[in-house]
Amino acid sequence: MNSDEALQMLKDGNKRFASDQLIPDRKFKERREQTAREGQKPFAAILACADSRVPVELVFDQGLGDIFVSAVAGNICAETVAATFELGVREFGIPLIVVLGHSNCGAVSLAVKEDKIEDSLMPLVKRIRPAVMAARMAGMERSDPDFINSVAKINVKEAIDDLFDQSPYLKEMAQNGDVAIVPAFYDILSGEVEWIE
Ligand SMILES: [Zn+2]
Repeated sequence: MNSDEALQMLKDGNKRFASDQLIPDRKFKERREQTAREGQKPFAAILACADSRVPVELVFDQGLGDIFVSAVAGNICAETVAATFELGVREFGIPLIVVLGHSNCGAVSLAVKEDKIEDSLMPLVKRIRPAVMAARMAGMERSDPDFINSVAKINVKEAIDDLFDQSPYLKEMAQNGDVAIVPAFYDILSGEVEWIE
């Protein structure tokens, strides 16, 4: 499967999810046996938030062995996430990586706040703050009702930059067109994924 076909699979799956028409009666036992026997061949890797309202397999209506998921608050790309995706591409030939932000993100809200933040939460906040700065530089105000979602969208692109900084391999693969890296944004109310580019 190439990256265009993989992206179409995700788009189709999200349409089914958003309209409450998931594929019925997935055969998990059969699929467990098949993937245990033959190994996994996921067609996409997805970096998403840990938010319980963003269950990735459901959002894209995919089953066992279909997508390679990393979920971390604020969908930030820490070193271990970049290494995870590099592993997925090297080992399983994944043609598509999606970085999925979402509306009303708690981690983004935390990074937007000006209050003192616990030191132990700083590893999350530090990676989101550049997106907050970028939104402010673009003239957006914290009081703007859409500020958090605007920051979350910028944060998706920052995560892609972080992915490339930490994985020269994936950067080169993307430049050569051997893997597609796609930013996206999930609306927790409508269930729809907006493809940012
Ligand atoms: Zn979130």
